[in-house]
Amino acid sequence: MLEQYVQMRDDVAAQLPHAILLFQVGDFYETFGEDAERTARLLSLALTHKSSKDFSTPMAGIPLRALDQNVEKLLAAGVCVAVADQTEEAGSGLVERKVTQLLTPGTVTEERHLSADENYLAAVATGDGYALALLDVSTGEFRTAAFHTRLALYDELSRHRAREVLLAPELSGNPALLSDFQARFPVMLSPANFGEDASRQELAAHLGEVPGTLSTAALVRACGAVLGYAKLTQQGHLEMVRRIVRFEPGAHMRLSDTAARALELFQAQSPQGVTLMDVLAQTRTAGGKRRLRAWLRAPLLDELSIRARLDSVELLTRAPDLRGAVRSLLYRAHDLERLAARVATRRATPREIAALARTLELLPEAAGLLPAQDGLLGGIRARLGSLPDVVTRIRAAMVDDPPIRIGDGGLIRDGFHAELDDLRAGAMGHREWLAQLEVTERARTGIGSLKVGYNNVFGYYLEVTGAHLSKVPADYRQIATLKDRARFTRPDLREHEREIARLELAAGRLEVDVFTELRDSLAAHAEPLAEAAGALSELDVLTTLAEIAAEKGWTRPHTTDGPATLRQARHPVVEQATGGKFVPNDAELSPHRFTLLLTGPNMAGKSTYLRTVALCALLHQIGSFVPADGAHLPVYDAIHTRIGASDDLAGGRSTFMVEMTELAAILHSATHRSLVILDEVGRGTSTLDGLAIAQAALEHLHAARAHTLFATHYFELTRLETDHPGLINLHVAAEEDETKNGGTGGLTFYHQVIPGAARQSYGVEVARLAGLPAPVTNRAAKLLTALNTSGDDRKLMQELATLDLSRLTPMQALEVLHRWQREV
Ligand code: ADP
Repeated sequence: MLEQYVQMRDDVAAQLPHAILLFQVGDFYETFGEDAERTARLLSLALTHKSSKDFSTPMAGIPLRALDQNVEKLLAAGVCVAVADQTEEAGSGLVERKVTQLLTPGTVTEERHLSADENYLAAVATGDGYALALLDVSTGEFRTAAFHTRLALYDELSRHRAREVLLAPELSGNPALLSDFQARFPVMLSPANFGEDASRQELAAHLGEVPGTLSTAALVRACGAVLGYAKLTQQGHLEMVRRIVRFEPGAHMRLSDTAARALELFQAQSPQGVTLMDVLAQTRTAGGKRRLRAWLRAPLLDELSIRARLDSVELLTRAPDLRGAVRSLLYRAHDLERLAARVATRRATPREIAALARTLELLPEAAGLLPAQDGLLGGIRARLGSLPDVVTRIRAAMVDDPPIRIGDGGLIRDGFHAELDDLRAGAMGHREWLAQLEVTERARTGIGSLKVGYNNVFGYYLEVTGAHLSKVPADYRQIATLKDRARFTRPDLREHEREIARLELAAGRLEVDVFTELRDSLAAHAEPLAEAAGALSELDVLTTLAEIAAEKGWTRPHTTDGPATLRQARHPVVEQATGGKFVPNDAELSPHRFTLLLTGPNMAGKSTYLRTVALCALLHQIGSFVPADGAHLPVYDAIHTRIGASDDLAGGRSTFMVEMTELAAILHSATHRSLVILDEVGRGTSTLDGLAIAQAALEHLHAARAHTLFATHYFELTRLETDHPGLINLHVAAEEDETKNGGTGGLTFYHQVIPGAARQSYGVEVARLAGLPAPVTNRAAKLLTALNTSGDDRKLMQELATLDLSRLTPMQALEVLHRWQREV
């Protein structure tokens, strides 16, 4: 057996070098050797040893019934799994075994291993930049794109949360690059075939041709590698992959992974935190949720597309009845995208096909609800309404509530298949004879308590209690004796029983054939099914956005080339958390005020204000209403953020290094059409360094005329307003209150953003607020006064350093000296 294991393990390793082979031995899946050690560690299993006189090997096993949950754990840990099952009954010799499943994190399609989110397998190749291929095997979505820089590639990979990344040899062979990838993504060093010729053949064989959009060798190689690998793990079944969509990363707003994290789109920064997705995800279907996530990841740049979405959302906000009807209908829908893909790969179970039918039955009704004249909704209506009549076919063939397993009987409807009907009628005849037997035998023998029973050992039997044993007729043969009764059989009883078994087995086999035929015929409709599924998801997102807008009183943003203005804007997440107490604020960015410098004490609401503006811009570009009373917004080409000081501990970079890396990326790429949100830049280093860097960065962004919101605790920066037209000071209102804290003073926050610079940083007051002992805060206040004096010196020094003497007249120089003398 171990020889068989080793052979099989080698075969698996040739395809998936790092996979763990789960090898069925009776009631367990066993692993041996190194695999056993890994498995035991990953699954916290006891490690045992299998020993014979010649050798000993570690062994770890999991019970057959615990396979799913353990495979799930292994996949989550980024490990591939091969499952070898016994394919014949155990006899005296060696049992035959076959690898029945190859499971990898990015290619599983079984519902039980999937999260409802996307499940992308990715491949990356290089050559004039980077080529990326992304495949979601569970839905058949296949996308590809080219990138100029590795950073842009990383952004796309993490946005799609690729579960498994295949690297071309030129990347995996470079140790520095490899470890950079591995630090970020679950990289799988599998021998996916990145050869150009092999890739061309793979693509042509599957799609009929190599699509013209794959214009470079790198794109061809990435796509071919993904396809070949997926095909391997799906054991050849990849019918739902029908086309490759080439997308332009530039067709969407640039939203880096850092920005997505800083804005808490999908991941909160604190464990209990709420994300924008949490607020928006009132979708009713799994497909809708995936689509919403995709929209958030890729806000639009095209004004017409944005308007089309907004039009539909607006229409739906105004029609609560329509919205309600659509949403209650969607509530009854199953995950049509996944079901369509299961049908395409001919793997759907009877229950999945029944779920498909139930969902498809909703579509005409959904289509009927939608107005034909609305752009997007009209399109969805058409896509939902134009399905071939798949439902009738399923309903005609299959019972409404099928059993879990095929072959157990009771799956195909009576009257659908004549031969099946005959077999069933035959079996039924024998069953009826059995059902009658009790009556006829009671009459014949005069034993009123005679019973017909059944068990697994004897099959059908006749049972007579002790008192009546003398009346048992001669044609009964005793097969069991119990304390107070005996069991009998008769030759014709066996005969009928055998017939029932034979007919039911034949019927079961025929059901499998009929079902397979039905399933195969459905595969032909994979494409319109996928179309309808996409339409349903889109409908879900549009109604959800409308529902949220109506429920929360959001407003339709107007796309504009003019100034960006927000009236009474709220932060969608913080607003929820603060109950009714959120203080709305206005915002305006225009050619006259494009750099907003925001000062104010800690905890005043600076970050919240910055994020409010960014989130409104983002929501606008996914086609959503925004949390404000009025909004005019331009189409931003990017939202850049540098917020807070987060340590990249896993990446081993210091806070300051992370901050500077992110800042560098922003300064390199921000344009006059970008929205830039910077919060507390320069915090990670000494005050003077920090101030210098903050000022230089601010000046750079000011020169680039990006729409910039800059929150800072460096008051020195507020004087930039004087000689930087377009730079405007704002601050968040807070007030010192002498009467607070028993007369020692305190701070009241109003969370209101108003013009002008803050007077001071209030750091000491915030410290008091946080409960620092009074002697400490009093001492700090004294120190601060002293330091502020030296701060003035520093200001003078700075001004002196930056004074352009070559352009100063003697008179002006004298004026400066005068002013300085007054100040000191
Ligand atoms: P800062 O960046 O100035 O330190 P934050 O933006 O982090 O301050 O806000 C601190 C807290 O104040 C937030 O967690 C929130 O509870 C509250 N807050 C901020 N802005 C508002 C607002 N506009 N209305 C009500 N509460 C707010």
